[in-house]
Amino acid sequence: IGTDAVDRNDSLEQRILTDPGRFRVMTGDRPTGRLHLGHYFGTLQNRVRLQDLGVESFVLVADYQVLTDRDVAENLADSVEGLVLDYLAVGIDPARTTIYTHSAVAALNQLLLPFLSLVSVAELGRNPTVKDEIAHSRQAAVSGLMFTYPVHQAADILFCKANLVPVGQDQLPHLELTRTIARRFNARYAPETGIFPEPEALLSAAPLLLGTDGGKMSKSRGNAVALADDADDTARLIRGAKTDSIRHITYEPATRPEVSSLVLLAALCTDRDPREVADGIGTGGAGMLKRTVTEAVNEYLAPIRARRTSYAQERGFVRNILKEGNERAGAVADETLDEVRRAMKTSY
Ligand code: ATP
Ligand code: MG
Repeated sequence: IGTDAVDRNDSLEQRILTDPGRFRVMTGDRPTGRLHLGHYFGTLQNRVRLQDLGVESFVLVADYQVLTDRDVAENLADSVEGLVLDYLAVGIDPARTTIYTHSAVAALNQLLLPFLSLVSVAELGRNPTVKDEIAHSRQAAVSGLMFTYPVHQAADILFCKANLVPVGQDQLPHLELTRTIARRFNARYAPETGIFPEPEALLSAAPLLLGTDGGKMSKSRGNAVALADDADDTARLIRGAKTDSIRHITYEPATRPEVSSLVLLAALCTDRDPREVADGIGTGGAGMLKRTVTEAVNEYLAPIRARRTSYAQERGFVRNILKEGNERAGAVADETLDEVRRAMKTSY
Protein backbone atom coordinates (compact mmCIF):
# COMPACT_ATOMS: atom_id res chain seq x y z
CA ILE A 1 0.00 0.00 0.00
CA GLY A 2 1.19 3.48 -0.86
CA THR A 3 1.84 6.35 1.52
CA ASP A 4 -1.50 7.88 0.51
CA ALA A 5 -3.37 4.97 2.03
CA VAL A 6 -1.24 5.16 5.16
CA ASP A 7 -1.88 8.90 5.57
CA ARG A 8 -5.59 8.37 5.07
CA ASN A 9 -5.55 5.65 7.68
CA ASP A 10 -3.71 7.91 10.17
CA SER A 11 -6.21 10.72 9.81
CA LEU A 12 -9.14 8.30 10.05
CA GLU A 13 -7.58 6.88 13.20
CA GLN A 14 -7.45 10.40 14.66
CA ARG A 15 -11.11 11.03 13.86
CA ILE A 16 -12.14 7.76 15.49
CA LEU A 17 -10.23 8.47 18.68
CA THR A 18 -11.64 12.02 18.86
CA ASP A 19 -15.26 10.98 18.45
CA PRO A 20 -15.95 7.21 18.47
CA GLY A 21 -19.69 7.90 18.76
CA ARG A 22 -19.80 9.14 15.15
CA PHE A 23 -18.85 5.74 13.81
CA ARG A 24 -20.66 2.51 13.17
CA VAL A 25 -18.59 -0.56 12.30
CA MET A 26 -19.63 -3.38 10.03
CA THR A 27 -17.40 -6.21 8.88
CA GLY A 28 -17.45 -9.99 8.64
CA ASP A 29 -16.05 -13.28 7.45
CA ARG A 30 -17.04 -16.22 5.32
CA PRO A 31 -17.73 -19.39 7.34
CA THR A 32 -15.35 -21.38 5.13
CA GLY A 33 -13.05 -22.59 7.88
CA ARG A 34 -11.37 -21.46 11.04
CA LEU A 35 -10.05 -17.94 11.42
CA HIS A 36 -6.29 -17.50 11.18
CA LEU A 37 -3.55 -15.06 12.05
CA GLY A 38 -4.20 -13.06 8.87
CA HIS A 39 -7.70 -12.37 10.12
CA TYR A 40 -6.45 -11.63 13.58
CA PHE A 41 -3.81 -9.06 12.69
CA GLY A 42 -5.65 -7.88 9.55
CA THR A 43 -9.03 -7.13 11.08
CA LEU A 44 -10.10 -8.94 14.29
CA GLN A 45 -7.75 -6.97 16.51
CA ASN A 46 -9.14 -3.72 15.11
CA ARG A 47 -12.72 -4.90 15.57
CA VAL A 48 -12.14 -5.64 19.23
CA ARG A 49 -10.33 -2.34 19.74
CA LEU A 50 -13.17 -0.37 18.13
CA GLN A 51 -15.79 -2.28 20.10
CA ASP A 52 -13.89 -1.52 23.29
CA LEU A 53 -13.71 2.16 22.32
CA GLY A 54 -17.50 2.13 22.34
CA VAL A 55 -18.06 2.11 18.56
CA GLU A 56 -21.35 0.39 17.73
CA SER A 57 -20.42 -2.78 15.84
CA PHE A 58 -21.97 -5.36 13.50
CA VAL A 59 -20.16 -8.56 12.56
CA LEU A 60 -21.50 -10.72 9.76
CA VAL A 61 -21.12 -14.46 9.37
CA ALA A 62 -21.33 -14.33 5.57
CA ASP A 63 -22.95 -17.70 4.94
CA TYR A 64 -24.42 -16.86 1.51
CA GLN A 65 -20.97 -15.73 0.39
CA VAL A 66 -19.71 -19.29 0.86
CA LEU A 67 -21.68 -20.19 -2.25
CA THR A 68 -19.47 -18.04 -4.49
CA ASP A 69 -16.93 -20.82 -4.87
CA ARG A 70 -18.38 -23.88 -3.15
CA ASP A 71 -20.68 -26.46 -4.72
CA VAL A 72 -22.34 -27.45 -1.51
CA ALA A 73 -22.63 -25.80 1.84
CA GLU A 74 -20.79 -28.69 3.42
CA ASN A 75 -20.71 -28.62 7.24
CA LEU A 76 -21.94 -25.06 7.11
CA ALA A 77 -23.62 -25.18 10.53
CA ASP A 78 -20.38 -26.36 12.14
CA SER A 79 -18.36 -23.69 10.35
CA VAL A 80 -20.78 -20.99 11.46
CA GLU A 81 -20.56 -22.07 15.09
CA GLY A 82 -16.79 -22.35 14.82
CA LEU A 83 -16.59 -18.81 13.52
CA VAL A 84 -18.62 -17.50 16.45
CA LEU A 85 -16.27 -19.38 18.80
CA ASP A 86 -13.30 -17.69 17.15
CA TYR A 87 -14.99 -14.31 17.66
CA LEU A 88 -15.62 -14.99 21.33
CA ALA A 89 -12.07 -16.25 21.81
CA VAL A 90 -10.50 -13.03 20.51
CA GLY A 91 -12.76 -10.78 22.57
CA ILE A 92 -15.74 -9.88 20.39
CA ASP A 93 -18.49 -9.37 22.94
CA PRO A 94 -22.01 -10.28 21.79
CA ALA A 95 -23.47 -7.88 24.35
CA ARG A 96 -21.85 -4.99 22.49
CA THR A 97 -21.44 -6.36 18.97
CA THR A 98 -24.32 -7.67 16.85
CA ILE A 99 -23.32 -11.01 15.28
CA TYR A 100 -25.64 -12.24 12.52
CA THR A 101 -25.87 -14.36 9.36
CA HIS A 102 -26.87 -13.44 5.81
CA SER A 103 -29.44 -16.19 5.53
CA ALA A 104 -31.41 -15.01 8.56
CA VAL A 105 -31.75 -11.35 7.59
CA ALA A 106 -34.17 -11.32 4.66
CA ALA A 107 -34.44 -7.53 4.32
CA LEU A 108 -30.67 -7.19 3.94
CA ASN A 109 -30.73 -9.51 0.94
CA GLN A 110 -33.48 -7.52 -0.69
CA LEU A 111 -31.16 -4.54 -1.04
CA LEU A 112 -29.09 -6.57 -3.48
CA LEU A 113 -31.60 -6.08 -6.29
CA PRO A 114 -31.65 -2.28 -6.53
CA PHE A 115 -27.90 -2.22 -5.85
CA LEU A 116 -27.24 -4.58 -8.79
CA SER A 117 -28.96 -2.10 -11.04
CA LEU A 118 -26.47 0.58 -10.06
CA VAL A 119 -23.31 -1.15 -11.32
CA SER A 120 -22.18 -2.20 -14.76
CA VAL A 121 -21.03 -5.64 -15.82
CA ALA A 122 -17.73 -4.07 -16.90
CA GLU A 123 -17.18 -2.66 -13.39
CA LEU A 124 -17.78 -6.07 -11.85
CA GLY A 125 -15.42 -7.73 -14.33
CA ARG A 126 -12.55 -5.39 -13.40
CA ASN A 127 -12.48 -6.25 -9.67
CA PRO A 128 -8.91 -7.48 -8.96
CA THR A 129 -9.87 -9.43 -5.81
CA VAL A 130 -12.59 -11.34 -7.64
CA LYS A 131 -10.10 -12.10 -10.45
CA ASP A 132 -7.61 -13.48 -7.91
CA GLU A 133 -10.28 -15.59 -6.23
CA ILE A 134 -11.40 -17.01 -9.56
CA ALA A 135 -7.77 -17.91 -10.31
CA HIS A 136 -7.57 -19.84 -7.02
CA SER A 137 -11.03 -21.38 -7.27
CA ARG A 138 -11.39 -25.12 -7.59
CA GLN A 139 -14.61 -24.79 -9.54
CA ALA A 140 -14.74 -25.45 -13.26
CA ALA A 141 -17.26 -22.69 -13.96
CA VAL A 142 -17.36 -19.22 -12.45
CA SER A 143 -20.75 -18.62 -10.84
CA GLY A 144 -22.82 -15.48 -11.26
CA LEU A 145 -22.56 -15.00 -7.52
CA MET A 146 -18.76 -14.87 -7.78
CA PHE A 147 -19.11 -11.79 -9.97
CA THR A 148 -21.84 -10.14 -7.96
CA TYR A 149 -20.92 -10.88 -4.35
CA PRO A 150 -19.14 -7.50 -3.96
CA VAL A 151 -22.56 -5.91 -4.60
CA HIS A 152 -24.09 -8.18 -1.97
CA GLN A 153 -21.32 -6.99 0.30
CA ALA A 154 -22.46 -3.41 -0.29
CA ALA A 155 -25.84 -4.51 1.08
CA ASP A 156 -24.07 -6.09 4.08
CA ILE A 157 -22.42 -2.79 4.89
CA LEU A 158 -25.16 -0.34 3.96
CA PHE A 159 -28.15 -2.11 5.52
CA CYS A 160 -26.96 -0.83 8.90
CA LYS A 161 -25.52 2.40 7.47
CA ALA A 162 -22.05 1.52 8.68
CA ASN A 163 -19.40 4.13 7.94
CA LEU A 164 -16.33 2.25 9.12
CA VAL A 165 -15.13 -1.12 7.85
CA PRO A 166 -12.02 -2.69 9.41
CA VAL A 167 -10.73 -5.09 6.74
CA GLY A 168 -7.70 -6.56 5.05
CA GLN A 169 -6.27 -5.16 1.85
CA ASP A 170 -8.11 -7.62 -0.41
CA GLN A 171 -11.36 -5.89 0.51
CA LEU A 172 -10.42 -2.42 -0.76
CA PRO A 173 -11.90 -2.91 -4.26
CA HIS A 174 -15.15 -4.13 -2.68
CA LEU A 175 -15.28 -1.16 -0.38
CA GLU A 176 -14.70 1.21 -3.28
CA LEU A 177 -17.68 -0.41 -5.01
CA THR A 178 -19.80 0.01 -1.87
CA ARG A 179 -18.96 3.71 -1.82
CA THR A 180 -19.90 3.98 -5.49
CA ILE A 181 -23.22 2.23 -4.86
CA ALA A 182 -24.03 4.46 -1.88
CA ARG A 183 -23.22 7.55 -3.94
CA ARG A 184 -25.26 6.41 -6.96
CA PHE A 185 -28.22 5.32 -4.85
CA ASN A 186 -28.30 8.67 -3.07
CA ALA A 187 -27.93 10.61 -6.32
CA ARG A 188 -30.69 8.68 -8.06
CA TYR A 189 -33.26 8.16 -5.30
CA ALA A 190 -32.52 10.54 -2.46
CA PRO A 191 -30.64 13.53 -3.94
CA GLU A 192 -31.60 15.95 -1.19
CA THR A 193 -31.06 14.04 2.02
CA GLY A 194 -29.16 10.91 0.97
CA ILE A 195 -29.80 7.60 2.68
CA PHE A 196 -26.47 5.86 2.75
CA PRO A 197 -23.09 6.99 4.09
CA GLU A 198 -19.93 6.32 2.05
CA PRO A 199 -18.08 3.95 4.36
CA GLU A 200 -14.34 4.13 4.93
CA ALA A 201 -11.97 1.16 5.16
CA LEU A 202 -9.75 0.91 8.19
CA LEU A 203 -6.58 -1.06 7.48
CA SER A 204 -4.38 -2.51 10.19
CA ALA A 205 -0.58 -2.49 10.29
CA ALA A 206 -0.71 -5.94 8.66
CA PRO A 207 -3.33 -5.58 5.92
CA LEU A 208 -2.03 -8.52 3.90
CA LEU A 209 -0.41 -11.25 5.93
CA LEU A 210 1.20 -13.95 3.82
CA GLY A 211 0.77 -17.65 4.46
CA THR A 212 3.39 -20.38 4.67
CA ASP A 213 3.51 -20.66 0.86
CA GLY A 214 4.20 -16.95 0.34
CA GLY A 215 0.67 -16.21 -0.97
CA LYS A 216 -2.15 -14.43 0.87
CA MET A 217 -2.88 -16.32 4.07
CA SER A 218 -6.33 -17.78 3.44
CA LYS A 219 -8.65 -20.23 5.11
CA SER A 220 -9.08 -22.16 1.90
CA ARG A 221 -5.45 -22.36 0.73
CA GLY A 222 -3.94 -24.62 3.43
CA ASN A 223 -1.29 -22.00 4.25
CA ALA A 224 -2.72 -20.50 7.42
CA VAL A 225 -2.06 -20.77 11.15
CA ALA A 226 -5.58 -21.08 12.55
CA LEU A 227 -6.30 -19.46 15.89
CA ALA A 228 -7.76 -22.80 16.99
CA ASP A 229 -4.82 -24.98 15.89
CA ASP A 230 -2.85 -26.61 18.69
CA ALA A 231 0.79 -25.83 19.43
CA ASP A 232 2.08 -28.93 17.61
CA ASP A 233 0.10 -28.27 14.43
CA THR A 234 1.39 -24.71 14.50
CA ALA A 235 4.99 -25.90 14.85
CA ARG A 236 4.54 -28.36 11.96
CA LEU A 237 2.99 -25.78 9.67
CA ILE A 238 5.68 -23.18 10.33
CA ARG A 239 8.45 -25.77 9.95
CA GLY A 240 7.14 -26.42 6.43
CA ALA A 241 6.94 -22.73 5.52
CA LYS A 242 8.62 -21.58 2.33
CA THR A 243 11.78 -19.47 2.83
CA ASP A 244 14.75 -18.64 0.60
CA SER A 245 18.39 -19.71 0.43
CA ILE A 246 19.96 -16.63 2.02
CA ARG A 247 21.12 -17.50 5.53
CA HIS A 248 21.20 -13.98 6.92
CA ILE A 249 17.67 -13.10 8.03
CA THR A 250 16.44 -9.61 7.12
CA TYR A 251 13.13 -7.82 6.92
CA GLU A 252 12.63 -6.81 3.27
CA PRO A 253 9.01 -7.43 2.32
CA ALA A 254 9.42 -6.30 -1.30
CA THR A 255 12.31 -8.59 -2.18
CA ARG A 256 12.06 -11.38 0.42
CA PRO A 257 8.30 -11.81 0.96
CA GLU A 258 8.37 -15.32 2.49
CA VAL A 259 11.11 -14.66 5.04
CA SER A 260 9.76 -11.20 5.82
CA SER A 261 6.26 -12.46 6.48
CA LEU A 262 7.64 -14.92 9.04
CA VAL A 263 9.64 -12.14 10.66
CA LEU A 264 6.52 -9.97 10.70
CA LEU A 265 4.51 -12.72 12.39
CA ALA A 266 7.04 -13.00 15.21
CA ALA A 267 7.12 -9.20 15.50
CA LEU A 268 3.33 -8.87 15.68
CA CYS A 269 3.09 -11.57 18.33
CA THR A 270 5.78 -10.02 20.51
CA ASP A 271 4.92 -6.37 19.83
CA ARG A 272 8.36 -5.62 18.42
CA ASP A 273 9.68 -3.94 15.29
CA PRO A 274 10.24 -6.53 12.51
CA ARG A 275 13.75 -5.19 11.85
CA GLU A 276 14.64 -5.77 15.45
CA VAL A 277 13.35 -9.35 15.23
CA ALA A 278 15.39 -9.95 12.05
CA ASP A 279 18.55 -8.50 13.66
CA GLY A 280 18.05 -10.78 16.65
CA ILE A 281 18.17 -13.83 14.37
CA GLY A 282 20.91 -12.53 12.08
CA THR A 283 22.80 -15.45 10.58
CA GLY A 284 20.81 -17.98 12.60
CA GLY A 285 19.07 -18.89 9.33
CA ALA A 286 15.62 -20.18 8.49
CA GLY A 287 15.67 -22.83 11.23
CA MET A 288 16.14 -20.29 13.97
CA LEU A 289 13.64 -17.97 12.33
CA LYS A 290 11.01 -20.71 12.33
CA ARG A 291 11.66 -21.64 15.94
CA THR A 292 11.35 -17.98 16.94
CA VAL A 293 8.07 -17.62 15.04
CA THR A 294 6.61 -20.85 16.43
CA GLU A 295 7.38 -19.86 19.99
CA ALA A 296 6.03 -16.33 19.56
CA VAL A 297 2.82 -17.49 17.88
CA ASN A 298 2.10 -20.27 20.34
CA GLU A 299 2.70 -18.02 23.31
CA TYR A 300 0.54 -15.26 21.87
CA LEU A 301 -2.31 -17.58 20.97
CA ALA A 302 -2.32 -19.62 24.21
CA PRO A 303 -4.92 -17.49 26.06
CA ILE A 304 -7.07 -17.15 22.91
CA ARG A 305 -6.98 -20.91 22.43
CA ALA A 306 -7.87 -21.53 26.08
CA ARG A 307 -10.86 -19.18 25.86
CA ARG A 308 -12.03 -20.88 22.66
CA THR A 309 -11.88 -24.31 24.29
CA SER A 310 -13.94 -23.13 27.21
CA TYR A 311 -16.61 -21.46 25.01
CA ALA A 312 -16.76 -24.60 22.87
CA GLN A 313 -18.45 -26.40 25.76
CA GLU A 314 -21.34 -23.95 25.62
CA ARG A 315 -23.02 -24.68 22.30
CA GLY A 316 -26.37 -23.38 23.51
CA PHE A 317 -24.76 -20.04 24.33
CA VAL A 318 -23.32 -19.80 20.81
CA ARG A 319 -26.65 -20.58 19.15
CA ASN A 320 -28.34 -18.00 21.32
CA ILE A 321 -25.84 -15.33 20.30
CA LEU A 322 -26.81 -15.86 16.66
CA LYS A 323 -30.51 -15.90 17.45
CA GLU A 324 -30.35 -12.58 19.26
CA GLY A 325 -27.94 -11.03 16.75
CA ASN A 326 -30.15 -12.06 13.82
CA GLU A 327 -33.16 -10.46 15.49
CA ARG A 328 -31.32 -7.22 16.13
CA ALA A 329 -29.86 -7.09 12.62
CA GLY A 330 -33.28 -7.97 11.18
CA ALA A 331 -34.92 -5.00 12.89
CA VAL A 332 -32.25 -2.63 11.54
CA ALA A 333 -32.54 -4.11 8.04
CA ASP A 334 -36.35 -3.76 8.05
CA GLU A 335 -36.03 -0.08 8.84
CA THR A 336 -33.50 0.54 6.09
CA LEU A 337 -35.52 -1.42 3.55
CA ASP A 338 -38.57 0.69 4.41
CA GLU A 339 -36.57 3.82 3.80
CA VAL A 340 -35.28 2.43 0.51
CA ARG A 341 -38.80 1.53 -0.62
CA ARG A 342 -40.06 5.01 0.15
CA ALA A 343 -37.12 6.56 -1.71
CA MET A 344 -37.68 4.30 -4.73
CA LYS A 345 -41.42 4.87 -4.53
CA THR A 346 -42.06 1.14 -4.31
CA SER A 347 -43.88 1.30 -0.99
CA TYR A 348 -47.52 0.93 -1.93
P1 ATP B 1 -11.36 -17.67 2.03
O1 ATP B 1 -10.06 -18.24 1.56
O2 ATP B 1 -12.39 -18.71 2.32
O3 ATP B 1 -11.88 -16.55 1.16
P2 ATP B 1 -10.14 -15.76 3.78
O4 ATP B 1 -9.01 -16.26 4.59
O5 ATP B 1 -9.84 -14.94 2.57
O6 ATP B 1 -11.04 -17.02 3.45
P3 ATP B 1 -12.39 -14.08 4.38
O7 ATP B 1 -13.52 -14.60 5.21
O8 ATP B 1 -12.56 -14.03 2.91
O9 ATP B 1 -11.09 -14.94 4.74
O10 ATP B 1 -11.96 -12.61 4.90
C1 ATP B 1 -12.40 -12.08 6.12
C2 ATP B 1 -11.65 -10.82 6.50
O11 ATP B 1 -10.30 -11.13 6.82
C3 ATP B 1 -11.58 -9.75 5.41
O12 ATP B 1 -11.67 -8.49 6.03
C4 ATP B 1 -10.18 -9.92 4.85
O13 ATP B 1 -9.67 -8.73 4.29
C5 ATP B 1 -9.40 -10.32 6.07
N1 ATP B 1 -8.25 -11.15 5.70
C6 ATP B 1 -8.31 -12.38 5.14
N2 ATP B 1 -7.08 -12.85 4.89
C7 ATP B 1 -6.21 -11.89 5.31
C8 ATP B 1 -4.78 -11.78 5.32
N3 ATP B 1 -4.02 -12.76 4.83
N4 ATP B 1 -4.22 -10.66 5.82
C9 ATP B 1 -4.99 -9.65 6.31
N5 ATP B 1 -6.35 -9.69 6.32
C10 ATP B 1 -6.96 -10.79 5.83
MG1 MG C 1 -11.50 -14.41 1.19
